[in-house]
Amino acid sequence: SERIVLGPLVAAVDQGTSSTRFLVFNAKTAELLSHHQVEIKQSFPKEGWVEEDPKEILQSVYECMDRTCEKLTQLNIDISNIKAIGVTNQRETTLVWDKETGEPLYNAIVWLDLRTQSTVERLINKTPGRNKNHLKHKTGLPISTYFSAVKLRWLMDNVPEVHKAVLSHRAMFGTVDSWIIWCLTGGKKGGVHCTDVTNASRTMLFNIHTLAWDPDLCNFNHFKQQHSSLFGFPAEIRIFNWNSHFRGKFFGLKDEVSTVWILQCLGDQSAALVGQMCFQDGQAKNTYGTGCFLLRNTGTKPVMSDHGLLTTVAYKLGRDKPAFYALEGSVAIAGAVVRWLKDNLGIIHADTDLEKLAAAVGTSYGCYFVPAFSGLYAPYWEPSARGIICGLTQFTNRSHLAFAALEAVCFQVRELMDAMNQDSGIPLSQLQVDGGMTSNRLLMQLQADILCIPVVKPSMPETTALGAAMAAGAAEGVSVWSLSPEDLTEVTSEKFDPQINPEESEFRYARWKKAVQKSMNWET
Ligand code: ADP
Repeated sequence: SERIVLGPLVAAVDQGTSSTRFLVFNAKTAELLSHHQVEIKQSFPKEGWVEEDPKEILQSVYECMDRTCEKLTQLNIDISNIKAIGVTNQRETTLVWDKETGEPLYNAIVWLDLRTQSTVERLINKTPGRNKNHLKHKTGLPISTYFSAVKLRWLMDNVPEVHKAVLSHRAMFGTVDSWIIWCLTGGKKGGVHCTDVTNASRTMLFNIHTLAWDPDLCNFNHFKQQHSSLFGFPAEIRIFNWNSHFRGKFFGLKDEVSTVWILQCLGDQSAALVGQMCFQDGQAKNTYGTGCFLLRNTGTKPVMSDHGLLTTVAYKLGRDKPAFYALEGSVAIAGAVVRWLKDNLGIIHADTDLEKLAAAVGTSYGCYFVPAFSGLYAPYWEPSARGIICGLTQFTNRSHLAFAALEAVCFQVRELMDAMNQDSGIPLSQLQVDGGMTSNRLLMQLQADILCIPVVKPSMPETTALGAAMAAGAAEGVSVWSLSPEDLTEVTSEKFDPQINPEESEFRYARWKKAVQKSMNWET
C-alpha cells in the first residue's frame, strides 16, 4: 500500500518519573502521529528511599521507540522521515555508571528520595550562619535533598563501588538525560557524555549566571586543598560538558533511521514550558505529574525569589540564543499520592477510579490531607515534615479521603501561585496546565475553584514531549518556531472557570494552611 507523505517528522524520548514515552509528531503542524508508553517500576527499599533501575529505564526507551516505529509503519508512515529526536527527562535523579563496562554502579536515586536528609543537615551546618540558601546566589537553589549534588555525595560516602570508580577515573556521573544519551550514542564504545543547561542547573553544581559548572562547587581548582569545597568532591570527579545542542549519532533504532540525530535535550519542566509556548516574560504553566511544577518565564534575567521559589534555567534554544530563566515552584507529591492510594491503601485500583470515588461525595467533609511524604518542597523546603491526614470524624469515608487527596494537590499549587504572584507583583490571570493528572476533570475544576482563576488545558496533553521534539526539529531546521499558535493546528484547549465563591475558597485554603503547620517538624 501507498506510504503517506507527511514531510519531516520530529520525535521525543520523554523519560518521566512514572513512565517512559516515545512520541512522533508532524514537524510542521505539531500533530501527534503515534506514541508508545511503558510504566517504570519504582522501588522503596527503605522509608523515604526511592530508586529506579537504570537498565530498566534504558530498556523502556528502546521498547517505546521500537513499538512506536512499528505503529507508524502500520499507519504507512515512513519512519525515515524522523529528522530529529529530542530528549526530555525527569530532572535531578542521579546515576553513576562505569565507563568501561557500561554498567550502572547503583540504582538511580530518584529526585524525591529523602535519604540525603542527614547529608543535607551536615552540609548546611558547614555554611556560615547555617544557611540553607548559602548557594542560592550561584545556583538558584536551596540546599535540599532534591538536587543531584547531595545525592552524588551520598553515593560517594555510602557505596564503595562508586567511591572506588571515582578515584580510578571510571565513574560517570549524570542525570537521566546523560545516561540515556550516553547509551543511545554508543555507550562504552564512545557514547557522548553530556547534559544540557536545564538539567545542569538542577545539579547544584552549576552557576546559572555564568552558565558554567561552578569551579568551587565541583572542586576544579586543583590548587585548593582536596575536600575544601562544600560538597567535598575529590578532584577526580570530572564534570562533563553541557550543551543544549549536540550531534550524537544514534544507535539502536531500526536501521532505517539510524542516522537520526539527537539534537536537543531539555529537562521535563523546561520542555513543558516550551511545549506550552510560554516564551514571553510572565507566561507560566503548571504540570501535574508525579509532582507538580509551576514555572513562570522571567525572560533573560534570573530573578531571585523572596518566597521560597527556585530560580532555574528555563531553556536555551540554540547555541547563539540567550538563556531564558524561570521562577519555579516545585511540589514533590501530586500524582504520587494517587499511586499511594492505589498501591499502599488499595482504595482505588486504577488512577481513573480516583475521580469517581471523590465525585461520589464532592467534598472532603472537613478532612485535610498533607502528603508531605518527601518533606515539603516549595515554598517551605522543610525536609522534616511528614504526611498528615486530619479533621477526621466517624463520618469520614474513603471518598472524602480521595477528595482530600485531590484538594491537597490544588492547595499546594495555590501556595506556589501565591508565592509566584508575590515575587513578580503581577498576579496570574489564568493557569495553563498539562501532565498526566490533568485528565482528571474534577481535579481541574477544583483547581480553578481554589485558585479563583480559570485553568486552561490544551487538548493535546503531551506538551512535554512536544516541546522537546519541536526544539530538536528547530535545531535541525525542520520545525520552525514561527511562534504563532495558529500554525499549530492541534493546539486547542479546554477552560475550567471557578464555580465557588472566593470566600468559600479562602476558608478551605486557610484550613489547609493549618494542616500544613501540623505536618511540620515531625522528625525533629
Ligand atoms: P511523570 O512525568 O512524573 O511520570 P505523568 O505526567 O506521566 O507523570 O503523570 C502520571 C501521574 O499522574 C501518576 O502519578 C498518576 O498516578 C497520575 N494520574 C494519571 N491519571 C490520573 C487520573 N485520571 N487521576 C489522578 N491521577 C492521575
